[in-house]
Amino acid sequence: MPTQREQGVIDEFQQRRKRMMHSFGFCILLIIFALLILQVIDNRPSFLGISQAAWKALSAVQLILGILLAIRGYWQYRCPVCGEIVKGHDKFYFGVLTDPEHCPNCRSRLRE
Ligand SMILES: [Zn+2]
Repeated sequence: MPTQREQGVIDEFQQRRKRMMHSFGFCILLIIFALLILQVIDNRPSFLGISQAAWKALSAVQLILGILLAIRGYWQYRCPVCGEIVKGHDKFYFGVLTDPEHCPNCRSRLRE
């Protein structure tokens, strides 16, 4: 059984993990949607009466928002004890550990 303090760390980390997953999921949705718009306006120059330039601007905004969301999700995905981003072994890879049992840096327990 984890102590109360450990349980607090686990709960906090699971919150951050959920936030990270949602950010990444939403980022992918925004990018897919932006690409879909670009596809559609390719064939229909004034889709829904909105000019192609306006659609392109909207797609660009969506792409940027998606990327910012992903970065924000990544940035807050930290171990509640030592504050390090929970990354995989390879430091050159952007990859995060999506469901770690322990923090790779301080070994704190992060999952029940
Ligand atoms: Zn840690």
